Amino acid sequence: MIKLTTENTKRAIAKCRQLKPTVRFIKDRFFAVYSANNSNVYHVSFDVQNGEKFGECECKASERGLVCYHLIAGATANIYRQSLKRTR
Ligand SMILES: [Zn+2]
Repeated sequence: MIKLTTENTKRAIAKCRQLKPTVRFIKDRFFAVYSANNSNVYHVSFDVQNGEKFGECECKASERGLVCYHLIAGATANIYRQSLKRTR
């Protein structure tokens, strides 16, 4: 899993805002992200360890240890879900 920091997510956040990929919730901390460029679907998962966020995606960029925009799309949906839980 890749540790998500403010630094290494910057570029992916910008790309995600531009492409606005579709995200589908599968189960807790597990999402499917539909590629904005082709028909690929990437599964992303998240974890929190000692207050630090970690994420993993199936795409080539993630394999190389880079934070991709799929991760950001999933993370955004994850944060949104967590905030829904809290307000209930
Ligand atoms: Zn990815």
